[in-house]
Amino acid sequence: MEPEMTALPLVFEAPRRGQPPRHLADLDRDQRRAVVTELGEPAFRADQLARHYFARLSTDPAAMTDLPAAARSRLVAALLPELATPVRHQSCDGGKTRKTLWRAADGARTESVLMRYPDRATVCISSQAGCGMACPFCATGQGGLTRNLSTAEIVDQVRAAAAAIRDGKLTGGPGRLSNVVFMGMGEPLANYPRVATAIRRITDPAPEGLGLSQRSVTVSTVGLVPAMRQLADEGMQVTLAVSLHTPDDELRDTLVPVNRRWKVSEVLDAARHYADVTGRRVSIEYALIRDINDQPWRAELLGRLLHERLGARVHVNLIPLNPTPGSAWDASPRAVQEQFVARVRGAGVTCTVRDTRGREIAAACGQLAAATPADQPGS
Ligand code: SAH
Repeated sequence: MEPEMTALPLVFEAPRRGQPPRHLADLDRDQRRAVVTELGEPAFRADQLARHYFARLSTDPAAMTDLPAAARSRLVAALLPELATPVRHQSCDGGKTRKTLWRAADGARTESVLMRYPDRATVCISSQAGCGMACPFCATGQGGLTRNLSTAEIVDQVRAAAAAIRDGKLTGGPGRLSNVVFMGMGEPLANYPRVATAIRRITDPAPEGLGLSQRSVTVSTVGLVPAMRQLADEGMQVTLAVSLHTPDDELRDTLVPVNRRWKVSEVLDAARHYADVTGRRVSIEYALIRDINDQPWRAELLGRLLHERLGARVHVNLIPLNPTPGSAWDASPRAVQEQFVARVRGAGVTCTVRDTRGREIAAACGQLAAATPADQPGS
């Protein structure tokens, strides 16, 4: 049960929880061709649909003039059903950050955030509706898990973002989506098979996929050790980010409750394995929280541990805490943050502070709660 659904008057929206409809992006080429053949159409129609979706980023049947009009709506219904409708777009940062709230057919809500930078455009996507990891400083964690997203529901957030920036929906004119980060709602490695397939669809060259580079995809995890090892062994080149937030088990058991199952040293061993197998530098995320995890000794311990375990194959991303409603926690003062950075660097580990895009529209890290005024009965 999720709170936002219980608040809805049932006459307007019956809460049905189920798997989303089958979609082209869930299937590989052979499976797509089999579906089309079953409908009595030649198999190459599946490739035409894939080209519309992955290469032209389109789901609009009216634009699919290479498909016979009589078959078009049947094909689109079978392979390109609408998975989610945008409930609301919100922009900030002078129109360079844009958050979209999506509602799936069963009422599940998710959010994605598109951000334009001078040298790149990044979409932050959700892998689950809600999240089951219960980190106390994260708004998503407070609402619990609604359900896993399907492969297509994940891929479609990227397709929609790529279309939005191509079509000039962000300040700065038409552009190209370059990066994807799994840092929206959910724990991606808790939805492993669907996320792994989604990464392939996002990175396979068009018309089999959206054609982004694996190196520009980042998967962020609380530290689900077996799944981190599995991801290392997939033979992919995506960036792994680990939400460490403190180097000691005592505090981490509270900040990232799954630490009670997999300890800091096991998480760092798995990160090391990832770096060894892929040759990629691992990111360590650290939300700096005033008087909680920002002490000099923690900075030193963090630097020492990472230097010992990962050497040059690690980078620390400090995230000034984005306050969430109802929480007493706040970001560390500037001077404390600067000293923290200096101490980590002093241990020989690279460390930068992440910008906090989208704060005022609750689109920054950990602020995605998918709440909307429309959730209130009577509005
Ligand atoms: N479940 C994944 C991805 C989700 S969020 C994970 O935990 O890694 C991406 C990052 O934002 C994580 O490092 C998360 O811990 C961090 N985060 C969550 N809430 C935050 C907040 N209120 N302020 C700053 N960072 C936050």
